[in-house]
This record gives sequence, C-alpha cells and structure tokens, in this order.
Amino acid sequence: MPALVDSARAGSPRAVARLISLVEDGHPALREIMAALAPHTGGAWVIGLTGSPGVGKSTSTTMLVGAFRERGLRVGVLAVDPSSPFSGGALLGDRIRMQDHALDPEVYIRSMASRGHLGGLSWTTPQAIRVLDAAGCQVILVETVGVGQSEVEIAGLADTSIVLLAPGMGDGVQAAKAGILEIGDVFVVNKADRDGADATVRDLRHMISLGDRTEPGLWRPPVVKTIAAQKVGVDEVMEALDKHWAHMEGNGDLRRRRERRAADEIESIAVASLRARFGRVRGHHGLSTLAARVVEGDTDPYTAADTLLTQVDI
Ligand code: GDP
Repeated sequence: MPALVDSARAGSPRAVARLISLVEDGHPALREIMAALAPHTGGAWVIGLTGSPGVGKSTSTTMLVGAFRERGLRVGVLAVDPSSPFSGGALLGDRIRMQDHALDPEVYIRSMASRGHLGGLSWTTPQAIRVLDAAGCQVILVETVGVGQSEVEIAGLADTSIVLLAPGMGDGVQAAKAGILEIGDVFVVNKADRDGADATVRDLRHMISLGDRTEPGLWRPPVVKTIAAQKVGVDEVMEALDKHWAHMEGNGDLRRRRERRAADEIESIAVASLRARFGRVRGHHGLSTLAARVVEGDTDPYTAADTLLTQVDI
C-alpha cells in the first residue's frame, strides 16, 4: 500500500484511480492509506458545482478545468453520483464532454458512486478529495450528478460552492425551496443564450438581497451569466471564484469551513465504527439468554440492555 501512495503522489493516474476505488469499496487498507496521505494534503482548493440535471454542470466543469489549466494548475474532477450505488467506470464513460481534457496528464477525472454500503457522501467524497489533493491537484472540482439533498451535502464538502441555474426552468423558485440560496458562494446563470437569463439573474439577486447575508463583512454571493457551451463568461466566473477565495482566506472562513468539514468527517467515521461494533452486540451470545429472561418476565429490556453492554466491549 505505501508503494501505491508513493505512486499516487508522484502523479500516477493509475495509482490515483486505484486509491479512489479503494475509497469507494471501503477497503480495510484505507486507514493506513489515509494516514500516509495526511501529511501531503491541505493544498487543494475544493470547488463544488451543483444544480439540476441538464443545467450545464458538466459543460461548466469542462470550461473551468480549461481555465485552471491555463493558469498551469493541476486539476482534479470528481463527478459524484450520490443516488447511485454503482461504481465509477460506466458513469465516466458517459461523460463524453470531459474528453476535452481526457488526454491531459495534469487533469484527473473520476466518477464515483458515493451511496455505497458505507453510507453517504460524508464518508467517501472527502477521502477521494484527499487522494486527489495528495496527488498534487491544486484545484478539485466536485460535481454532483444526482439531485436533491446531495446538492446541500456537496456544499458542506467544498471551500467554494457554485450553484448553477438556467433561465426558464423555474430554477429560482426551486432554488429557494431546496435551500440552495443559502449554500451558494457563487451563482451562475448558465444558458444565457436563452430567453429569460436576465430575468433569472434579477430574481436571484433579489432573493439574495432578501437573505441574511447583508451584514457588512459577510460574503455577498455574486450572480454571473455564462454560456458554458461556448465558454462565454468564464473570466467572470473565475473572477468571482478568486474573490471568494481571497475573502475566505482573509477572514478565516476558509480555515473554519475546513475544520467543520473535518469534524463532519470524523463524526461519520466514528458513527460508522460504532454501528459496526453494534453489529457485534446483535451477534453476542449473551443476547439470547437475556432475551429469554425478558420473555419470562425475569428482567426488563432496559436492564437487559445495560447488562448486555457490560458484556460487550463497545
Ligand atoms: P448537467 O446535466 O448539469 O451536467 O448538464 P450538461 O453539462 O450535461 O448540459 C446539458 C445540455 O445543455 C447539453 O446538451 C449541453 O450541451 C447544453 N448546454 C450546456 N451549456 C449550455 C449553454 O450555455 N447554452 C445552451 N444553449 N446549451 C448548453
């Protein structure tokens, strides 16, 4: 395993892919791998992209990969499908548009299912991010393929969250409903070549101004128009992203966000570990004896549970 970590750090795409597969599988070697990766992480800017299917996330990701590559940065892309239990490969095959960058050795693209046997996004995605981070990716774009709650979850994983909308999809209202307004650091109205883009921008700005982010010193999310399919508006999006980065670094938000993220991660690992140990409670030989005693009225279930916990090492 250490050899695999060394290869990933040296930039081997195969090693990176293999490590992310181990993350997806919840492989027992993960503990050792994460320990080896830890000293080499923390350098990447994690940018989340969320929005309804068809809004242009994949096209926008491709556009941003191009912009970051122009800056000479190594870029990782994680397309996360939180609703799918299926593993990466097939999905990635579908992401044809990404082929713009498929041959660039400085771009790592990976699709992953995250709703696997080990639970949610909070478990697998941060570890995959850590792999890419240790492999020297300076920017990691995390794109959600699924819908709904996952959008909000993704926001918890990113340093900067981009929320994409498109004109005429009733997206503004949807956004307000889904709680998307609270999570966006940068709003992008894509498909600005379609009617209604300016109205969508206006609606969004209005909704943001009604929110609770009007105090001085708080980040006021900009709303940017793009035509991702033609790379129109990319400079404006990059400018908005840079400003958000500078703002977060300047006021300590970046560090706070990252600590919150780490706390979520520790918690989910701890809870998963507790759950695994509770499995042992279920199989414990003392359980049937206690169950018989409860049925006979010899003891009550609360007392029996206390007794069981003294017998099992939790
Ligand atoms: P995703 O499902 O959110 O990842 O959306 P995609 O990036 O796959 O884009 C969905 C469709 O919208 C594709 O056919 C894109 O070519 C198209 N598309 C993306 N950006 C634009 C745009 O700015 N204008 C128009 N008219 N179409 C776009």
